[in-house]
Amino acid sequence: MDCIFCKIINGEMPSKKIYEDELVYAFMDIEPTVDGHVLLIPKKHYTDFMELDDDIIIHMNKVRKELTKMLMEKLNVKALSISFNYGDSQVVKHFHMHLLPNLLISDGAKNTVDEVYQIIKK
Ligand code: 5GP
Ligand code: ZN
Repeated sequence: MDCIFCKIINGEMPSKKIYEDELVYAFMDIEPTVDGHVLLIPKKHYTDFMELDDDIIIHMNKVRKELTKMLMEKLNVKALSISFNYGDSQVVKHFHMHLLPNLLISDGAKNTVDEVYQIIKK
């Protein structure tokens, strides 16, 4: 299967990793909408949210709570939006959640992905 996100999980493609456990992987979005734009994905290839098993939804909910707290603390922001796309608006057909600090109160990314990554990884 030719899936970019499966390749990232397998280490065949580089990524700026934020978090990993046996079920999920989180990394910096390559074209951030806002500073600190992170993608959270299941390691198992589910095409979209319609395919998700209940167990992975529960686990992703736990992880996104931790990632939300961590991102808000590290980036010193008081707002974060979480979203996912489906159908024609979903470009990468491996389910992913977008974690978007300050989405509704900022006017886009101001720093490079690497600059923000250094702050998050400190
Ligand atoms: P979608 O529209 O499918 O919900 O969003 C796909 C997201 O994946 C976009 O925000 C896009 O910037 C990101 N993306 C696409 N290809 C890559 C990649 O190779 N590496 C990383 N880190 N992000 C990617
Ligand atoms: Zn995949």
